[in-house]
Amino acid sequence: MCGVFGVFGHREASNLTYLGLHALQHRGQESVGIVSADGRQLHVERFMGLVGEQVSPEAIARLPGDLAIGHVRYSTAGETHIKNAQPLACSYANGAVAVSHNGNLVNARELRAQLEQDGSIFQSTTDTEVIVHLIARARKPTFVERIVSALSRVRGAYSLLFLTEGMVVAARDPYGFRPLVLGRLRRSRRGTPVHVFASETCAFDLIGAEMVRDVEPGEVIVADARGLRSLRPFPETRRHFCVFEKVYFARPDSVLDGRGVYDARERMGQTLARESPVAGDVVVPVPDSGVPAAIGFARESGIPFGMGLVRSHYIGRTFIEPQDKIRHFGVRLKLSAVRDVLNKKRVVVVDDSIVRGTTARKIVKMIRAAGAREVHLRVSSPPTTHSCFYGIDTPSRDELIAARHSVEAIRKFLTCDSLAYLGRDGMMEAVGDPQGRTHCDACFTGNYIVPVARLGRGRRLHA
Ligand code: AMP
Repeated sequence: MCGVFGVFGHREASNLTYLGLHALQHRGQESVGIVSADGRQLHVERFMGLVGEQVSPEAIARLPGDLAIGHVRYSTAGETHIKNAQPLACSYANGAVAVSHNGNLVNARELRAQLEQDGSIFQSTTDTEVIVHLIARARKPTFVERIVSALSRVRGAYSLLFLTEGMVVAARDPYGFRPLVLGRLRRSRRGTPVHVFASETCAFDLIGAEMVRDVEPGEVIVADARGLRSLRPFPETRRHFCVFEKVYFARPDSVLDGRGVYDARERMGQTLARESPVAGDVVVPVPDSGVPAAIGFARESGIPFGMGLVRSHYIGRTFIEPQDKIRHFGVRLKLSAVRDVLNKKRVVVVDDSIVRGTTARKIVKMIRAAGAREVHLRVSSPPTTHSCFYGIDTPSRDELIAARHSVEAIRKFLTCDSLAYLGRDGMMEAVGDPQGRTHCDACFTGNYIVPVARLGRGRRLHA
């Protein structure tokens, strides 16, 4: 998973991009990059690691210009290497271009094979590079037409930002899998609006930008010296926004798809309490991801809320560790139990999702060791039964505990007294889509709207 941010028309474009990426850090911790444009050329800075730790004032000073795009990258598989860090930047016959991508293309492998056969030499193993090659080869007069031509050949999920010497272009795939928002910042001196783009609105809040609207699914927005213009070059289709962004991935203070993420999570917790009530003395969230749902659960059930687990703020999301052994250790590094809250209690633990089950198992053990009489686990999303091929880094199917086991078998493995998941309908209702028509829920149902049959398991190209 990744986060993208872009600015058109501000003297401090690269500095604003740095701040925007800081707010999007939860979307990717592996690498960070910023590319700026000063009207003549592109300037590129990319690093492995975190925004705040890697991007120095000196690096920002090497990124002059009024235009910039940035990227934070997150990956659990595929190569962890600076050559895969984004934005990708390259020169070709018609100029220079940089691109930031969030999402996964499902036909990247076959397109890449074709392009290589035709003589393209790839620098990275990301699917994003395919788009750059398609742009370079497109026989179209303008850059925007070349983008449209390239995007008409790719399938899958993309929220993209492109940068050239004189423009920033935003594009979102016709299903709108991943978020992308347009915002505005008022420039004080000349009063002309500065256009900003981000994966999530929390990036706008940090820099004091106002949200204008979502970049619509299938829309291409061009920001250049002439202003802002919108194109709809692709056939319209029903949107399929990623429901897991609302369950887990996005920051709770963001507004996605017109609705607050926090509110959706709290509703998930409320519905879960109605669907799967349990007698308990305290509702305890798994911080941070389970907090809003636990608040909703506590309110609906009338059971008091307590912070029975505390989280170390000096460790990132444990899930990003690639090796099993490290991840197991990571749970203890990250969370610890508060005896005062848990001792002799019937504890209802709320988390947003169970993926492999290793985290929840450790948490149950930890809570029991702190004296809990009973441990009841409530999960504010349905069982994760399928891998995501559209940008969320779920592991392969055989690592997903719910792909192979019943809820009762999972309960036994986790060693909790009871286990219940939120139903799919309840989840869809909580995200404001009671018919379940406008969200992608493939990770919970296996309904892949864009076919993924040709994708070899475990051989994904990663954005
Ligand atoms: P697991 O031990 O694999 O069951 O991990 C489940 C935990 O990871 C839950 O607490 C989730 O909040 C979190 N989680 C779920 N999906 C992801 C993801 N794609 N990336 C990072 N963390 C995740």
